[in-house]
Amino acid sequence: MLAQLQRILHEVNEAHDIEQAVTVIVRRVSATMAVDVCSVYLFEPVSRQLVLMASEGLNPESIGKVRLDLTEGLLGLVGARAEPVNVENAPEHPKFKYFEETGEERYHAFLGVPIIHQRTVKGVLVVQQQVTRRFSDEDESLLFTLAAQLAGAIAHAEVNGDIEALRGGGRLESHSIAGIAGAPGVGVGKVRVIYPPANLDAVPDRKIDDVATERAAFEAAVGATRDEIRALNGRLGETLPVEERALFDAYLMILSGDSLVTETLDAIDAGNWAPGALRATVQSHARVFDDMEDDYLRERAADLRDIGRRLLMHLQDSGPREREPIAPGTVLVGDDVTASDLAEAPTGHLVGVISAHGSGSSHVAILAQAMGVPAVMGVCDLPVGRIDGEEVVVDGYQGRVYVRPSPTVKKEFQRLANEEAELSQGLSELRDLPAETVDGRRIPLLANTGLASDILPSLQSGAEGVGLYRTEVPFLVRERFPSEDEQTEIYRRVLSAFAPRPVTLRTLDVGGDKPLSYFPIEEENPFLGWRGVRITLDHPEIFMTQLRAMLRASIGLNNLQVLFPMITSVQELEDSTELLERAIDELVEAGELVQRPLAGAMIEVPAAVFQIDDLARRADFLSIGSNDLAQYLLAVDRNNARVADLYDAMHPAVLRALHQVISAGHAHARPVSLCGEMAGQPAAAVLLLGMGIDSMSMNAANLPRIKWVIRSFSQEQARALLTEALLLKSASEVRRFVNGALERAGLGGLVRAGK
Ligand code: PEP
Ligand code: MG
Repeated sequence: MLAQLQRILHEVNEAHDIEQAVTVIVRRVSATMAVDVCSVYLFEPVSRQLVLMASEGLNPESIGKVRLDLTEGLLGLVGARAEPVNVENAPEHPKFKYFEETGEERYHAFLGVPIIHQRTVKGVLVVQQQVTRRFSDEDESLLFTLAAQLAGAIAHAEVNGDIEALRGGGRLESHSIAGIAGAPGVGVGKVRVIYPPANLDAVPDRKIDDVATERAAFEAAVGATRDEIRALNGRLGETLPVEERALFDAYLMILSGDSLVTETLDAIDAGNWAPGALRATVQSHARVFDDMEDDYLRERAADLRDIGRRLLMHLQDSGPREREPIAPGTVLVGDDVTASDLAEAPTGHLVGVISAHGSGSSHVAILAQAMGVPAVMGVCDLPVGRIDGEEVVVDGYQGRVYVRPSPTVKKEFQRLANEEAELSQGLSELRDLPAETVDGRRIPLLANTGLASDILPSLQSGAEGVGLYRTEVPFLVRERFPSEDEQTEIYRRVLSAFAPRPVTLRTLDVGGDKPLSYFPIEEENPFLGWRGVRITLDHPEIFMTQLRAMLRASIGLNNLQVLFPMITSVQELEDSTELLERAIDELVEAGELVQRPLAGAMIEVPAAVFQIDDLARRADFLSIGSNDLAQYLLAVDRNNARVADLYDAMHPAVLRALHQVISAGHAHARPVSLCGEMAGQPAAAVLLLGMGIDSMSMNAANLPRIKWVIRSFSQEQARALLTEALLLKSASEVRRFVNGALERAGLGGLVRAGK
């Protein structure tokens, strides 16, 4: 049963549209379970009815015609309760309802399971049999598993408009897809799908005008692949027996004008670009092999995919089509958009970012905020492969995406964008005023940066310095480690732009979700693995180079502060500080006029909270990395869209930890800053003010609104709010409570902008 289940699941995954997915399910299930009927009913939200969408066994004429309310029949019971119903003799059940169109009266045994996606019933999967019997537990779990799989496919199809088409209603315009707010703002633009190279399954469809060029590119790729396989065959000829080498003959046959090539060319002629046409053909051919009972033949699907990958590599090599520049007004879309994808796009050309994975605290989202580009993350239902070139609206406040927006939706979002611009305009008047509470307490607001292009916006936002310069960003966008001189130049740029204001350079914080392509780290759990100072302490040559570059960059300016990320033990802080001292000594000995900078520890791991006294004693200052601290305290991966609802820095446990760190820092006369994303959230800023935070560092885009918050409260008011907030039991209660206070203080306009 397990093997059969896996094969059905595989086929459903590979189905290119919902119609195919439901057809596969009803056919396969009825054969595997040897039942008389297997049907899929989909829930139609407008009519609130279940509609028969596919069936093996029922009258085909009834498809699309049989519909029932959730109060009707056994099916309605499954949908309404969102639970399975397993009945031996359905016609005897008080809820049984007879549908003439289907001829159902002949069936007695009934097992229906709900199809649920994100807590919502999308439909019902049902099997029926003439005999009177109860379906087994094993039958139930098979249907459960398939229903769960189908749920994702249905959610995808709803977004595409395919469900509407299946119901005969045509494409649904302006369908919105839920994700997670990644970076505030609203953008309307054209999708450009980006994907990792040589990953055939990730290749999107893309419309083309120039068929001849695409045909030529594909034919050249076929030629190059053929040459490559012949060469491989020749090279291995001496070591491999003839039978094994037969594989290469099979490869060559597939490439010799056989249907893979001609079908791909046909798909190109139909208007798809060569990589998209290749993906579609390989997938459909591979599916035929996957279907076969014979293990050997099934393995041929792997050969086909291998050839597909090789062809793709050659297409990508030849491809000026790949490297088309990103046009102004582009929305960058991908399964997993990376920080470097964003950094590579020309400044000002992006109006939005949508990533199927990741969350609001992923580095790519942070970068998008810094660049002022609206972003929606974790849009797992996004049909990434099918929306290249489409128009979309990116609502970075609500975390929603509208594919093919209607004129009304577009107009509404344009209005929102204008309002936002007006609010920013109003706030820009605060630029030269101090971030000072009503009762006169100054809370310097600093900028988080990492990109050279950030420096100007940060200066213009009125930042009083840089509280977090993520040095890994210039490392991420290169193809090798930058040299000491290169680093010195990069750091000098930011130090001199802000001098005499302080600039905190954080030492390299790679690992976790920030892998360097030229320093690969393979780990099961990267966030619990080799990252931050764990790497740099193991590689003192990298660490020392960076520290020397920082120190040299600050000569004559002397506004450098150094910050160590991911400190988890006293020893790590001591070792890092010792390396800093050594770098200073080396430079002084070489006659350089370096000064000792202040050195701080990031508090972003729960262990550091519980050793805060020992750490505070040894650091010149503390900087709370609330993004990671929340992730580790709440045991919620900051990039996992599925648990993004649970990731909330306003969680009472996080607030208590922050309070503890700030109080301990002050007990040791150490200034405490916070540089996680929560510093840029109005409600969080009020509570931090109440805790007595000394400074806050955030994306420049958020800085004016936080200044407005600080200038609207007294320290005393903030303390009183904190005392009450600390008594609350959940993040949502805390947020509601503080947002209420913000609205009463006349800052309601800020509350809409998300968390
Ligand atoms: C943090 O963890 O809060 C932080 C500021 O660092 P990063 O987001 O770069 O991990
Ligand atoms: Mg961190």
